[in-house]
Parts: sequence; structure tokens; C-alpha cells
Amino acid sequence: MTMQRSDVIPLGAHMSLTVTDFEVDDIRFPTSEQLDGSDAMNPDPDYSAAYVVLRTDGAGGEEHDAGTEGHGPGVEGHGFCFTIGRGNDVMAAAIEGLRSYVVGRPAPRTAADLAALYRSLTHDSQLRWLGPEKGVTHMAAGAVLNAAWDLAARLAGKPVWRFLAEMTPEELVSLVDFRYLTDALTPQEALALLRAAEPGRAGRTGRLLAEGYPAYTTSPGWLGYDDDKLVRLAKEAVADGFTQIKLKVGADLDDDIRRLALARRAVGPGIRIAVDANQRWDVAGAVEWMTALAPYDPSWIEEPTSPDDVLGHAAVRAGQPVKVATGEHVANRVVFKQLLQAGAVDFVQIDAARVAGVNENLAVLLLAAKYGVPVCPHAGGVGLCELVQHLSMFDYVAVSGSREDRVIEYVDHLHEHFADPAVVKNGHYVAPRAPGFSARMLPASLAAHRYPQGPVWQARRTPEETGR
Ligand SMILES: [Mg+2]
Repeated sequence: MTMQRSDVIPLGAHMSLTVTDFEVDDIRFPTSEQLDGSDAMNPDPDYSAAYVVLRTDGAGGEEHDAGTEGHGPGVEGHGFCFTIGRGNDVMAAAIEGLRSYVVGRPAPRTAADLAALYRSLTHDSQLRWLGPEKGVTHMAAGAVLNAAWDLAARLAGKPVWRFLAEMTPEELVSLVDFRYLTDALTPQEALALLRAAEPGRAGRTGRLLAEGYPAYTTSPGWLGYDDDKLVRLAKEAVADGFTQIKLKVGADLDDDIRRLALARRAVGPGIRIAVDANQRWDVAGAVEWMTALAPYDPSWIEEPTSPDDVLGHAAVRAGQPVKVATGEHVANRVVFKQLLQAGAVDFVQIDAARVAGVNENLAVLLLAAKYGVPVCPHAGGVGLCELVQHLSMFDYVAVSGSREDRVIEYVDHLHEHFADPAVVKNGHYVAPRAPGFSARMLPASLAAHRYPQGPVWQARRTPEETGR
């Protein structure tokens, strides 16, 4: 059953709910065994989620309907941030440290509630020392905020993209922390951008529901895949309706030239091929390497160098002909601001779970719109496709108003663990209709992949570890 918006009765619309509990889990998938997700800097990722559930005193419960069709609005908020294995326990501990900001407090429902929660989570006077606004503590704030947005959107009976897209420009502006941004974007400018997009919202919502949002796929291009698998998956991607694929590069130039040539031959000249170095190079190395790959017409070079190196990205962009993209490891809105101010990127790649959740990503979407730079989100990993689709769809409806030159990354694995998985048809994400952030993993998947006690991990322990 596909839930239509008109079917949804906001749960507890007239009730005041309290967040009663906060559950944090270390969830890991042994993806390194297949080299899924392998790239020049991350050869053996075990895709993982530091996962948080906000429980409320609302009647009913989600457990019994999780995993069945027609999951309706519930009384829990689910969120997470993504890691690639070791350190996921550190993330979980950092999330646990934010418990007191949520438990025992009213369930967030409005823009004002979500704005206040964002500010409290990112400005804890002691935790802030560990950032500020970057790294583990910041990502932890993002996980909790994502769970809060899931909860608020569920209570409103709307998917997050629509929950956002139906807020007023004033509400949206109130969600952003403009501290450190006003030299590039003032609240008044943001308001003007959002007001200018307002008359077209209804039409674009209709087009989004009918046509979806363009996707590209990274599934063919993991560095650990052999040439045959690369060619086969590249051809399959085109047959599946994708107009862009992405290849990992940066380990060996001769290999990259061969793989890119094979991929180009497999997909033909009309399909875009992006390449991704995952921060492998210094500036000069990036320029040299990309100059060598340029004849195969890559559509962008992603993460050529350190995500902190704003001027380095500008130099790479100036020094070779391929367009530059970055963002999945950009720590916060301030670095995004500088990348845009410096003219360092052609594409901004937000990540749903790197910065402080929806609120900070809204700031980045507004900055990108101000500078006229397309946003093409990062969405490998586990659950990132599910989350970030909402942000791009909201951007299309209510911020940039455009899908031109914009694509959301898609990687076709681990979706089976989600109650409301991302759906891509004919190269386009289908707009989610179920309430919430599409963030909820199935209870059975959580139980199986809990680290280290879940059965998936117990089965992998060595005799030495188990004492047998
Ligand atoms: Mg990448």
C-alpha cells in the first residue's frame, strides 16, 4: 500500500507529547568483505550507523508495524550518522552525551522547536570545546537532529521534504544559525530567496511527485571491482535509466586511465562519468592526474584534496579543465561558505549526516542558491540515500527551484534494511510519501547488526576472540 498524503491523520495532533527515552545503538554491516564502497582512501569500509531512537509517551508504538507495509506516523523519531566501522562506538558515545537535551522534554513539532533544539545541541558550552561545530560531537548533534526531524515530520503526517517545503519562508529562515554566515548570506537575503521561490512551490511539488528527482549511480565504480564487473555494472546502469555514473580514482594513474576508458566505451559519449578521488591528492597531484584523465571527459572530480583546503580546491579548479565537487566531508556551513566565496567548487555535495542535521544543511542549500551553484548530494554509505533525497527534493520545491545539473548519488545496497527505503526508478528517486525522514531501520536488521553482540558479528569472531 502506498500511503497518500490525504490518508494521513497526524498522530496526536492535539496532544502534547514528551520524549521519554533515548536509545543509542552501534550498528555495523560487514561490507568490507565484498569491497563494496572501496575507494582510494577507504579500502575496507564496514558501513555503519550510530543510530538513535527518540521514544515518546504517545499512545501506540512502532515496533509492531515496522517492516510491514503502510507504516504510518508513529511516536518515535529515528536518526543516525554514518561511519565506516571503527569509531562507530565513539560516535554512539557522543550521541549518548546529548541525552539530556532531549529526554524529559516536549517532543519537537514546529520550526521553533527544531530551531531551539539545533542551537542547544550545537552550543553546549562544554561539548563545544571538542569542535567547535565539527567532528564527532557535531555529527552526534546531527544524528539527534535528524531523529528529531523524523519525529516532528511523523507527528505532522508528512515526509520531511514536504514538511519543510510547506513551512513559510520566515519559519525556514528561523531554522538557520546565521552566525559566521552574514558576510556571505544575511537572513534578509535568505528570506528574499525563499519568497521568490514560493509562487512555484505547488507546481514543482506536482512535477516532483510525477517525475521524481534525477539520480546517478556509484555502484559500478568501486575501486575494488575488477574490469569485467566495472563494465557489466556500467552497462547495467545505463540500461536502468541512469544518465550519470561515478568511478573511484586516485590509487594508480594507469589503472584509472584504463578503467575510465573501459567505462567510457561501455556507456558511450552521452552518459556523464564523474570521478571521485576521496581526498587522495595534494593540489599539484590533483592537477596532474586530472589533466591526464580529462580526455575521457569526466563530468566532475570529487574530493580531489583535503576537505578543509578551500584555497586548494580553488587551485585545482583553476589548474585543470574538469569541474570540481566536494562536500561529503566538509565539517560545517562555514567551510561551505568559504568554498563558495572562493569560487572553489562547481558542485556542492551536502551529506545528510555529516553536519548538524537538517538545520545546517538548510543553511548550505541557501548559500548554494545564493551563489548559483548546484547541490548534488553525497549518498553512499548506509541510509544516506534515504535521508538526503528529502533535502534535495525540498531544495527543488522551495529553495533553488531547479533540478538542472543536479543529481543525487545512489548506491544500490543495504536498502533492504529500511522500513521506507529509497526507491529509484528509471534513473530518478521517487518522492517519498510516508511520513518522516525514511530513516527507520527494520528491528530485525538492527538486532542482527548490533556490534559486537549481534549474530552477524558473533558469527565472524575468531576462535581466539571467543575463547573456543
Ligand atoms: Mg565521494
